[in-house]
Amino acid sequence: MSAYRRLILPFIILVIALFTRQYMINYYDEYGQLFDWMPYLLITASILLAIFFNLSRNFIASLYTLIVYQIIQTELQITLDDFSALYAYSSLCLVSPVLVLYLFFIPEKGLRNKFGFINLSLSILIMAIPFVLRMFLNEQELTGHINSLLPIRPVDGYIQSINSSIFFLLTFIIGMVTLHKANKDFISASLALLLILFITLSFFHVEKISTVLFMAISIILISSSLRSSYNLAYRDELTGLLGRRALNDRLKTLGRKYVIAMMDVDHFKKFNDTYGHDIGDDVLKMVANKLDSVKGGGTTYRYGGEEFCIIFPGKIMEETEPYLEAVRKTVENYQMVVRNLDHRPDSMEKGLERRGRRKQNRENNVVSVTISIGVAQRNETKQTPEETLKNADTALYTAKQNGRNCVILHKA
Ligand code: GH3
Ligand code: MG
Ligand code: MG
Repeated sequence: MSAYRRLILPFIILVIALFTRQYMINYYDEYGQLFDWMPYLLITASILLAIFFNLSRNFIASLYTLIVYQIIQTELQITLDDFSALYAYSSLCLVSPVLVLYLFFIPEKGLRNKFGFINLSLSILIMAIPFVLRMFLNEQELTGHINSLLPIRPVDGYIQSINSSIFFLLTFIIGMVTLHKANKDFISASLALLLILFITLSFFHVEKISTVLFMAISIILISSSLRSSYNLAYRDELTGLLGRRALNDRLKTLGRKYVIAMMDVDHFKKFNDTYGHDIGDDVLKMVANKLDSVKGGGTTYRYGGEEFCIIFPGKIMEETEPYLEAVRKTVENYQMVVRNLDHRPDSMEKGLERRGRRKQNRENNVVSVTISIGVAQRNETKQTPEETLKNADTALYTAKQNGRNCVILHKA
């Protein structure tokens, strides 16, 4: 999935939430208490899921969501002309982007271990900054700083100060760049969290805005936790592609007409021996990435090792051939720049004609690989997906026999 497509679901949830607001106001007399409690219920569910799935970032994001909602419900129900309300409000305007920025950059290494403990401690430190400032500065000093740095209501109908709005915007841009690079589901959930905090703080006076938006962010965080656990079970760690388990599930649900393509990297053992296993892994990631962008409605799976599989539902072999030819060519033409070739394994050092080869690598440190592809379709009513897959494998064997780097269709 392309990086920015990850924003679609959070965006839809957000829009639905904003539409629900009017409905909620209409029924507030009857169900008011339930509405106010819904965010608490949902955020608690999100926290429990994050603990259960051992996800530190989802836990921190959900905990912060809970704290902010609690502050809004208890401290911020009075006018912002009151010092304690203004201070709580301004603290949220500053801490929120800092915390989300922190979430963009920490890796997910689990919650119930020392990494989780460190991540959680640091985020609690960030959240505690306003309390520390409150201990060292008195009310007048703090009010002075807030009025000069973060003056609220810069324009009619907009509460948040220009400076903190800019801070939110910069954090949002950094988040978009991070999402583009890392393409992780949690980053899109963090961006949604940032946006929801921004809207809440900017249009603070709008009735029930925090209730609907905090319900929305809880649902987004819950869905992010569920997706993470799905990915853990169904996705291959190295390439991020769907793995064998997902493929087996898919084979059970294929219809009457479909095409299965099997592909295998050519001479990959030799490639590993020459450049080392790490560069081999990088090449597998690159190949996976190219195969994943196949057109024609195909889904790519990592079958195992350096073997991949693409399933095209509702197609016949001839229809898929151009798409497969296209990915084969893309892989063939891709020149990967290799980092630190000097870290090659010792065994290979011996195998190389030292001087000549080394010089060549230094001058031109790019590598490339090719793939062979075998294709089969369901052509008999009784044929099982496993049989089709076997036929694709036979065609792949023929492709290897024919000199590799080609696409071969299985002949019945
Ligand atoms: P052929 O063209 O006939 O496919 O030759 P080959 O050398 O690619 O075939 P073979 O199946 O004998 O070799 C597969 C090699 O792929 C063996 C192993 O070293 C390598 N390999 C499998 N999985 C991984 C992996 O996850 N990472 C790396 N770096 N190498 C892997
Ligand atoms: Mg192989
Ligand atoms: Mg191979």
